[in-house]
Amino acid sequence: MVKPADRIQQLPPYLFAEIDKKIREKQSQGVDVIKLGIGDPDMNPPSFVVDSMKEEAGKEKNQGYPPGYGVEEFKEAVAGYYLQRYGVELDPFNEVLTLIGSKEGIAHISFSFTDPGDINLVPDPGYPVYGIGTLFAGGESYIMPLRSENNYLPRLDEIPETVAHKAKLLFLNYPNNPTGAVVTKEYLKEVVDFAKKYDLLICHDAAYSELAFDGYKPLSLLEVEGAKEVSIEFNSLSKTFNMTGWRIGYAVGASYAVEVLGRFKTNIDSGLFNAIQQVGVAALNHPKRDAFIRELQSIYQERRDVVVENLRKMGWPLDPPLGSFYVWAPIPSGFTSQEFVTKLLEETGVVVTPGRGFGEHGEGYFRIALTVGVPRLEEAMERLRGAIRYK
Ligand code: PLP
Repeated sequence: MVKPADRIQQLPPYLFAEIDKKIREKQSQGVDVIKLGIGDPDMNPPSFVVDSMKEEAGKEKNQGYPPGYGVEEFKEAVAGYYLQRYGVELDPFNEVLTLIGSKEGIAHISFSFTDPGDINLVPDPGYPVYGIGTLFAGGESYIMPLRSENNYLPRLDEIPETVAHKAKLLFLNYPNNPTGAVVTKEYLKEVVDFAKKYDLLICHDAAYSELAFDGYKPLSLLEVEGAKEVSIEFNSLSKTFNMTGWRIGYAVGASYAVEVLGRFKTNIDSGLFNAIQQVGVAALNHPKRDAFIRELQSIYQERRDVVVENLRKMGWPLDPPLGSFYVWAPIPSGFTSQEFVTKLLEETGVVVTPGRGFGEHGEGYFRIALTVGVPRLEEAMERLRGAIRYK
């Protein structure tokens, strides 16, 4: 047997192995397991997406290898959406790149910019791919803790000068997974100034840009004046249109960063099926787009309210999150996040994610994904009420 590469052996242990085993055990005992663990929408894409795919899949012009940096019409649709949604102007040819889902670009941005020994600034708790991409590229993650007392925003003043000078990339993600936190324009301006001072590339992950509540409208980092020179922003159609399996995303921002990431990608993948990029055009340009998004927001907002209200009644100190489709809640005293999640599954058949899975600063929390309907969420809350209280 060939020994796996060091980079594989350095991967953190898969925290969910024990939970996955317990789920299978419970299910084989006939327990009706309610899964609030994984952030994968339970709803279908809009019919205008599915209908467009039926049309585009068979067209002759959509067969064959796609263009390396993405289909022109899709990149124009992304630029049109940025102008409409954020008032941000993008040059579709130099400032937009098609991705095979935003995860792909987020992982590959480190390969494109981070040499062995370089530092990337990585939020913790956070989407694990920032750190794993850094690790695979041979770089080092410098952890920026996200704490509730700072509204889950990294404290830039805590980053030592020597680290900031050595750093290449700074990852940010708002609306935030796993905390549900959102960001202000003033804070983003501080990050842009910081990036300019230390010659960094800000990598903003905007995967939840359309999932927000109570009238809050998520920002693009590129709305900040001068941000485009020092930033690349990642997004996809996954969460906005319930298209996680379709793998269509994009990166926008500094033309040099878009070009370098594209150069990396054209050497290792051969792009995304033309038909899916045409579907992306239909989705982004469709007259019913905004109505679909508003409906999606109201569905998640209702789910959020069910969870937050119930947890509050059980003693949890919680403010309703303004973005993403997660509720991030503290663990009652006396348990690690892993122990708590295992106990919950054992006693109630409800699966949630231990905060530790998002980094060491996620310890002390668990995450509930709002990816089942209200009746199932109410059932889950009913079961929790019978088993635990927050203390
Ligand atoms: N970023 C965050 C914060 C996520 O939670 C996810 C998926 O869960 C992604 C990026 C990747 O999404 P996709 O690759 O489907 O665009």
